[in-house]
Formats: sequence, structure tokens, C-alpha cells
Amino acid sequence: MTVPENLRADVDAAKARVAALHAELPRWELVVWTAGNVSERVGDLFVIKPSGVSYDDLDADAMVVCDLDGNLVEGSRSPSSDTAAHAYVYRNMPHVGGVVHTHSTYAAAWAARGEEIPCVLTMMADEFGGPVPVGPFAIIGDDSIGRGIVETLRDHRSPAVLMQNHGPFTIGKDAKSAVKAAVLLEEVARTVHIAKQGGDLIPIPQSAIDSLYQRYQNVYGQH
Ligand SMILES: [Zn+2]
Repeated sequence: MTVPENLRADVDAAKARVAALHAELPRWELVVWTAGNVSERVGDLFVIKPSGVSYDDLDADAMVVCDLDGNLVEGSRSPSSDTAAHAYVYRNMPHVGGVVHTHSTYAAAWAARGEEIPCVLTMMADEFGGPVPVGPFAIIGDDSIGRGIVETLRDHRSPAVLMQNHGPFTIGKDAKSAVKAAVLLEEVARTVHIAKQGGDLIPIPQSAIDSLYQRYQNVYGQH
């Protein structure tokens, strides 16, 4: 399979976007070395980071294109080792257009405890619509990571899941939304962790979480 002519321009635009978004991961200190990856869906394909390439070398031409089974369609390098998980999400969550994975420190620390992040900040209600849930322990190599992400997020408002003993995956309508969720996730993971050291957390009532979420998702910002 090759990239169909009618998707050529969209795939090239996505490669440029995804390359630029990869630069956001080290900028917000969400990754070290070559860890972490961003992808974006284009039709029945998606653009993703190549495996094991330094963030300094991740320009648009370095990006690889896969089909929704995770097979390489275009690119001179092998795709990210997390490609199967991204592909599983795209196959099973048609509304998702972007996926991000990092091992960002505070989010991964909650994942190491298998503890969801309780919704105790208004910015959490805004972006995540409640607590950030924990997904199952799963090992790379088959569909189990992708299945764990989908089963956890399918009936959840949160665009982020903490895969137990591993780290966060985030989803969005496009790659930029998923990167935003990854950045905000690390921020709330850090703040709530610090808050816990000082005493008891104060939960936000569900009705307030609901109205904050509705307002932020539908009213806030430029429309
Ligand atoms: Zn990982």
C-alpha cells in the first residue's frame, strides 16, 4: 500500500503538524531521550514518530505513515514501538484524531501507584471532566495496551488514561488536542501530588464538575 493521491496533501500537512508537535514534548519536559510519541489520523492512515530517533532530528520528512493495522505505508524508518497501541485506538474510537504517549514524571508516578488523580482542581474539571482514570497493567507486544486505553476511556470524559506501571496516553480530536491534554495532565498530576503532601484534598462536587466541564468544552475560548 502507498499513500493514495487524494490524501497526499493532507498527509504532508499532518507530517509537518506532527513534527512540530513533537517539539512540544521536550519543551514541556514530558519526555527524556527518545521516549514519547505523537500521532494524527488522516483518513484510514495515521502519521507517527519513527522509533528511536532523537527529538532534534524529528522533522516532517522523518515522520512515518501507517495504516490502521499499524503496517508501515510510507517512511524510511520503522514506526514508533507504540504504533500498535495508537492503531488500536484509531480502529476502535472513530472520533479520535490524535494520540499522544509520554512517561511524564508526575503522571507516571500516579501510574506507578495505580492511583487515579482525583478531581480537586477546577482546571481538571475543565479539561478532564472528572478524575483521570487508571488503565490496566499491559506489556508492549500485542493489542493489550491499545485495548486497555480504549476500555478505560470509552465511557469516560477524560482524554487521558494512566496505564498502570507505565504512564499516560492522551487522545483528542487532533494531535494538537492530545498534546494539550498531555501537557495539562502533567501539570495537574504535579499539583495534586504536591497538594497531597500538605494535607487532605477537597473534592469538587459532581454538579460543579459537570457545569465547569460543559462551560469549558462549549463556551470558553474563541468560537
Ligand atoms: Zn511507554
